[in-house]
Amino acid sequence: MVDLKGQYNDIKDVVNPSIQEVIENTAFINGPKVHDFQKNLETYLGVKHVIPCANGTDALQIAMMGLGLKPGDEVITADFTFAATVEVIALLQLTPVLVDVNEDDFNINIEAVKKAITPKTKAIVPVHLFGQCANIEAIMDIANEHNLFVIEDNAQAIGADYTYKDGSKVKAGTIGNVGATSFFPSKNLGCYGDGGAIFTNDDQLAHTIRGIVNHGMYERYHHDVVGVNSRLDSIQAAVLNAKLPFLDAYNKARQTAARKYNTAFKDIDSIITPKTVRGCDGVCDTCDCHVFHQYTLRVQGANRDALAKHLNEKGIPCGVYYPIPLHRQKAYLDSRYKENDFGVTNTLVKDVISLPMHTELDDEQIDYITSTIINFING
Ligand SMILES: *Cc1c(COP(=O)(O)O)cnc(C)c1O
Repeated sequence: MVDLKGQYNDIKDVVNPSIQEVIENTAFINGPKVHDFQKNLETYLGVKHVIPCANGTDALQIAMMGLGLKPGDEVITADFTFAATVEVIALLQLTPVLVDVNEDDFNINIEAVKKAITPKTKAIVPVHLFGQCANIEAIMDIANEHNLFVIEDNAQAIGADYTYKDGSKVKAGTIGNVGATSFFPSKNLGCYGDGGAIFTNDDQLAHTIRGIVNHGMYERYHHDVVGVNSRLDSIQAAVLNAKLPFLDAYNKARQTAARKYNTAFKDIDSIITPKTVRGCDGVCDTCDCHVFHQYTLRVQGANRDALAKHLNEKGIPCGVYYPIPLHRQKAYLDSRYKENDFGVTNTLVKDVISLPMHTELDDEQIDYITSTIINFING
């Protein structure tokens, strides 16, 4: 699905000395590389505060802790996402409220969010799934109207733009009260282990969160709040610092691969290629509305599981993200959920399939992948 080795070979002249420097300095925890990366990412995203942490799941959890959410508070999020999003809500004894998504962009459905709001609702967690920003403008409107926090799960969309109705652009993850991302190796900006970060433009919240990631300390050995230990280690920061200047080019490479996939499948009726809400298929030259963390097709009128098996037999990796909706996962069952409320998610889990997507895909590989799929579909 990804080619981390190919990517590393191209940048090892930058990455290796950066890692070496950390080892020579032995500043393994909170070293200068972590601070540099924080500053560089703040500049790249155009956000006031980046707080690095240990992974994307921690980033989400710490964001929620920072907002002071209390047990029993309801938090609305998408039914069609990776479990980390809902896991941290449950772990903090908040009440997850899962809602359906859209058929076109796979992101949280605005009408479903509105319907799910109760007097106990305190926050909405949109997930910018597969690399495309959810309808954050509409979500911010709902949040303002009902006095709710917005926590953006930006683990899959770092570098993506959200374009406002007036044409101005903002980076995904920097619009809500707080954003959370992951630097897991296969993410669009991946390190060589675990890593994550929290973003916010709110000075007070940034201060609170900086204490939470460090055992609740604002002054050494004074523990004012219950915190956690969640750090980005210096070696990972060194990798990320070396890779950040390439992020835009990496995302462009993903868009180029997506465009080639789209073109190859254009006349195949049973394959629905990914849509962008901006209607440009996310691959126009001026737009970063979709950074294709995943390239996800919907297969209709053909057997998705048989196709997946066939691809694996032909040596083509593929993935089904996600095969089971969260509302049907044992850990997150809730008697209030009605199957009818999850019509889109229930359909998507049956027909989505994600193809190899990374920065090193070449034409030969794309031709092999697309022709194998088309031959299978055409029987
Ligand atoms: C990867 C991912 C996370 C969790 O990130 P980790 O660094 O693996 O903890 C959270 N949410 C989404 C949508 C993800 O894709």
